[in-house]
Amino acid sequence: MSVLDLTAAEITAKIKSKEISAAEVAKAFLDKTKRENPKVLAFLKIHEDDFLKSAIAVDAKIQNQQPVGRLAGVPIAIKDNMHVEGWETTCASKILTGFKATYDATVTQKLKAQDALLLGKTNLDEFAMGSSTENSSFFTTRNPYDTSRVPGGSSGGSAAAVAARFTPVSLGSDTGGSIRQPASFCGVVGLKPTYGRVSRFGLVAFASSLDQIGPFTRDALDMANMMQTISGLDPMDSTSSDQPVPDYAASLNKGVKGMTLGVPKEYFAKGLDATVKEKVMAAVKVYEDAGAKVTDISLPHMDYAIEVYYILAPSEASANLARFDGVRYGHRTKNPANLLELYEKSRAEGFGTEVKRRIMLGTYALSSGYYDAYYLKAQKVRTLICQDFENAFKKVDAIITPTAPSTAFKVGEKSSDPLEMYLSDIYTISCNLAGIPGISVPCGFSNVGATHASPLPIGFQILGRPFDEERLLQMTAFYQSQTSWHKENPVLS
Ligand code: GLN
Repeated sequence: MSVLDLTAAEITAKIKSKEISAAEVAKAFLDKTKRENPKVLAFLKIHEDDFLKSAIAVDAKIQNQQPVGRLAGVPIAIKDNMHVEGWETTCASKILTGFKATYDATVTQKLKAQDALLLGKTNLDEFAMGSSTENSSFFTTRNPYDTSRVPGGSSGGSAAAVAARFTPVSLGSDTGGSIRQPASFCGVVGLKPTYGRVSRFGLVAFASSLDQIGPFTRDALDMANMMQTISGLDPMDSTSSDQPVPDYAASLNKGVKGMTLGVPKEYFAKGLDATVKEKVMAAVKVYEDAGAKVTDISLPHMDYAIEVYYILAPSEASANLARFDGVRYGHRTKNPANLLELYEKSRAEGFGTEVKRRIMLGTYALSSGYYDAYYLKAQKVRTLICQDFENAFKKVDAIITPTAPSTAFKVGEKSSDPLEMYLSDIYTISCNLAGIPGISVPCGFSNVGATHASPLPIGFQILGRPFDEERLLQMTAFYQSQTSWHKENPVLS
């Protein structure tokens, strides 16, 4: 078996037992990435020197019999909206041209402390606004299963990197589905933690009441180890929670017998691809056959989730992105006539179309006279959506839904119609509005046929109670013990 097919946990075990060295691991992944990334375009930047140096440091610790971390020698890719000290953070935006992070994000620091090897920064939709990486100012990442298709987004680069075996695990961020939807499109596991579970310090803010950082992995154990590493209270993020972090790996083998699982009818209505529906229902059956009780539920306000999100997220974004004005960070216009023109031109030149659209939407929704009609009303409906979940979780332990209404679409297929694009997050957005955890797990492939040249991955989503990530991991581990979708590998043409 090639080292490239090992999970992160297997890599660390082999490094600790001196079966392989971290330098050998690093070289194998670096070679693969250099060879195949030009087809996938997952990375905005590969930091080869730092990557190899960190591998040598891990090997030195092993030689000197010093203890090594939980992720020792594991190559990791980081979405380029999180800071790594000394590396550029671009958010795939021209406005941040030349901006270098002067400190590590808390997640970065925690990964380094566990001896992970940071390979580079991955592509995204500009400022994480999008569902396909087509809004990146630099290029579009390709789906490793079919390079004429998108990997999903906004964390498309991080999802594609894990699917293509450039790194066994990676980090993304999820404001309305940006981890789970690309995980589904690329056939990997992606988790959006409970709001507050993972520190956002050092993540460039998009919509602060919705943003969470989370991992991409291929299996449940790697997900447990990644969550163990990045979770917990952080004095640098006042919205991080002081809930104790459980031992995530400990509950993986507990099975699902006796659990009650809800299947919400609103998520299986019009607009859902027939094959996606079939595969998700087959996953539900795996749980049912294992002794879980499956019951139909209703989340009556789900139909409003997209509308609410596209008021609240742009409103928060319009405030968060005000800091990019040509004075402090990145791009500054040449020869402005005065200060106002410096702001206006720097922003006009630096931001892309979708980011501008969001800033305008948000500024409008927050402006006097419209605030009550849009922003305030959206907040009230957000509360109704939260209550739907609270009521559901009185009856069920977890909820199963499709992650996305379809498989990966073609590059260019939806990029001219923002509304079409927004609809690809229809099943993921309510989870962010309610702040609950959600995971996408690979559950099969579309059939090869007239519309698809190659089979495309499908994922199902599990939603849980706040801070019940343990159950999501336990359910993922059980599903993966019964199926082998997570072991599939794309063949790059
Ligand atoms: N696709 C959604 C948007 O465009 C969600 C993005 C995200 O989760 N960062 O806003």
